[in-house]
Amino acid sequence: MDLAYTPEQQAFRAEARAWLEAHVPKEPLASFDTAAGFAAHCEWEAKLNAGGWAMVPWPTEYGGRGADLLEWLVFEEEYYRAGAPGRVNQNGIFLLGPTIMEYGTPEQKARYLPPMASSEEVWAQGWSEPNAGSDMAAIQTTAIRDGDHYVINGQKTWASRGAFAHWLFGLFRTDPDSDRHRGLSFVLVPLDTPGVTVRPIEKLNGKQAFAEVFFDDARVPAANLLGEEGRGWNVAMATAGFERGLMLRSPARFQSTARKLVELYRANAADCEPALRDRVLDAWRGAEAYTLETYRTVSRLLEGGKIGAEASLNKIFWSELDLAMHETALEILGDRGELLAGAPSATDVGDWLDGYVFALSGPIYAGTNEIQRNVIAERILGLPRR
Ligand SMILES: Cc1cc2nc3c(=O)[nH]c(=O)nc-3n(C[C@H](O)[C@H](O)[C@H](O)COP(=O)(O)OP(=O)(O)OC[C@H]3O[C@@H](n4cnc5c(N)ncnc54)[C@H](O)[C@@H]3O)c2cc1C
Repeated sequence: MDLAYTPEQQAFRAEARAWLEAHVPKEPLASFDTAAGFAAHCEWEAKLNAGGWAMVPWPTEYGGRGADLLEWLVFEEEYYRAGAPGRVNQNGIFLLGPTIMEYGTPEQKARYLPPMASSEEVWAQGWSEPNAGSDMAAIQTTAIRDGDHYVINGQKTWASRGAFAHWLFGLFRTDPDSDRHRGLSFVLVPLDTPGVTVRPIEKLNGKQAFAEVFFDDARVPAANLLGEEGRGWNVAMATAGFERGLMLRSPARFQSTARKLVELYRANAADCEPALRDRVLDAWRGAEAYTLETYRTVSRLLEGGKIGAEASLNKIFWSELDLAMHETALEILGDRGELLAGAPSATDVGDWLDGYVFALSGPIYAGTNEIQRNVIAERILGLPRR
């Protein structure tokens, strides 16, 4: 095992750092869950893409720079170090992109990956339905083949970024007589298709973080099928593997939060109970452990391995770590932690409260942690279903 970076990786880091220092916006962008913030984030993505940094591990012809996944981790470390904006097209670049790379035809790769890298096309994820959340195999929305098209009817919900996104990828029942995991297909749907209605869902803070999407005889070209018809479950599980196991939450995100937590503790140490110091140290160690584990996963993938059920372990770890770090920060801040950004005396409280509220959703999105525990019990430990 060699834990040192190669000279090439160090040069890559220096190049990424210099570019980010020169280009990252000095002021934070408005939230991408608002129309203006969404547009500003797309502009930032276009700039990243022009510099060749949108998705470094992709081949150059698809908008990447042909880096390997270790270099991607290095890039992520520099990205968070620079305080660069959140990735508005994360459903595209981190989830669908790698899935297209694995299951797409050459035509699909050429068609979808470059505008994804530039965020001219931003993607929403369409798994959940009103009666299919944790039990995703209960999906009822149908996509029935009619000549060269699929005709889609039904409803998706909780589509993050769906209020402003251009496209949605999702699972649809292409065999109306099938049940559970069989007869589902992975289809790519332009959200401006006639018969598609996008209805934004506001969060308690008034931002349009989600959408529900209705389909009434929406006709989508059959060429928008990804993978084989009727075998969409397998394709979707590959997407979920990238989401839970590697790309959606790179370790740099948690190392960055851990660093900020240490700074917060140092600034307030005189007023803190001794036990808080241990929790800060636990958080820092957790972020480092997650980083090493991710480097191990990437090394395994570079040797031809695949992401499997262990992605569920990962997902539980990062979501619980994120929540613990934000809870600790709020305890350090005491009553001040409840101040909203912009309140007169909120000068030193940062965005911990906002981060905490989002961290609360970590154990729910990307498949709830209860479901991940079921996966671990059955597929890793080999325990019986009942
Ligand atoms: C911030 C956020 C972003 C999201 N983004 C998207 C998105 O972009 N696209 C999308 O399609 N969806 C998205 N979702 C929806 C998310 O995938 C679902 O909320 C999640 O899968 C749970 O489904 P549900 O809400 O229907 O809850 P339910 O499935 O009704 O679950 C309710 C509770 O019961 C538990 N439970 C259910 N079944 C079992 C079981 N078999 N064993 C043990 N416990 C069980 C669950 O763990 C949960 O605690 C998002 C959710 C959040 C919070």
